[in-house]
Amino acid sequence: MWITTLGSHCALQVLKGAKDEGFMTAVVTERRREGLYRRFGFIDDFVVVDRFGDVAKPDLQAALRERGAVMVPHGTLVSEVGVDTVEGGLDVPIFGNRRMLRWESDRNLKEKLMKEAGIRLPRSFATPEEMDGLCIVKLHGARGGLGYFLADGPGPYRRKREELEAKGLLGRDAQVFIQEYVVGVPAYLHYFYSPLHRRLEFLGAEKRYETTVDGIGRVPSSLQGELSPSYVVVGNIPLVLRESLLEDVYRMGEDFVRASQRLVPPGSIGPFCLEGVYDAEARFVAFEFSARIVAGTNLYVNGSPYSALTYGGEQVSMGRRIAMEVKEAQASGSLDSVLT
Ligand code: AMP
Repeated sequence: MWITTLGSHCALQVLKGAKDEGFMTAVVTERRREGLYRRFGFIDDFVVVDRFGDVAKPDLQAALRERGAVMVPHGTLVSEVGVDTVEGGLDVPIFGNRRMLRWESDRNLKEKLMKEAGIRLPRSFATPEEMDGLCIVKLHGARGGLGYFLADGPGPYRRKREELEAKGLLGRDAQVFIQEYVVGVPAYLHYFYSPLHRRLEFLGAEKRYETTVDGIGRVPSSLQGELSPSYVVVGNIPLVLRESLLEDVYRMGEDFVRASQRLVPPGSIGPFCLEGVYDAEARFVAFEFSARIVAGTNLYVNGSPYSALTYGGEQVSMGRRIAMEVKEAQASGSLDSVLT
């Protein structure tokens, strides 16, 4: 059996983990990145495409099926291939519940699921007139937070919006999503739900290093003036949480899994991430979730403090944890519980 994924995002970690568990590995890589992936000995085969969207071509899908390949979805599958294709046009077994990817991509569904889970959310506002404090204005489908802006009322909202429109960063008819800005510290919580063991595992936490928002503090406040932050992720920084926060971390993860089982059966399978801010009282307020492995798990190729606590001496990355579940499901004849 093979494990495959698109060559970007967290492909190295996923394929390394698969190799550690004894799988054959294939990367679907764009031609321009083939050289990068050839540097690593744990990748057995290279499926070279002109662009990632080509993975939906019938001959390519047939080649993956012939190998008995399981595809591990990540952010690039969502952004470059798209949920419509993943749901309706990708006839390759996917690790996890592929329907969850739509719930991740659609802001309304996303809010519905987080509310169902009882997770604390920032307030959202249907119109700029309703804003009653500092808000973050997000574009639908924005990649890396480019074009997001902050405003604390309808006047500043209109001014900033016009500025972005004039720069061509925002279409005149572009729909935006206005959300309460939560002042606090960001945290991304990496979970894995095992349907085989009916167990939630917390495997790591991280914070993101985002330009320019993480650079603005380097400019004296008197000169920060109208500098508007962008939120393009360039890397990830490890985070260990205060131990007294952990009970809540597990509870939120379990509530999320149960809510996903009710709304998107069979629910969450494998990795997901709750993404938010610890506010002034150290309460977690979630502004997003990812329904699949996140790139922040790349920090923990050799395992994280939390995977060490769960798996003893084993170095269990999220990529390896996925492969462990596939291997166990294969051995017990229950692949149906982990693939869709
Ligand atoms: P997103 O595209 O929703 O993941 O947001 C990109 C970045 O914007 C996050 O990593 C945070 O730094 C920041 N952010 C998003 N939503 C909020 C919020 N409601 N309050 C504070 N910061 C936020």
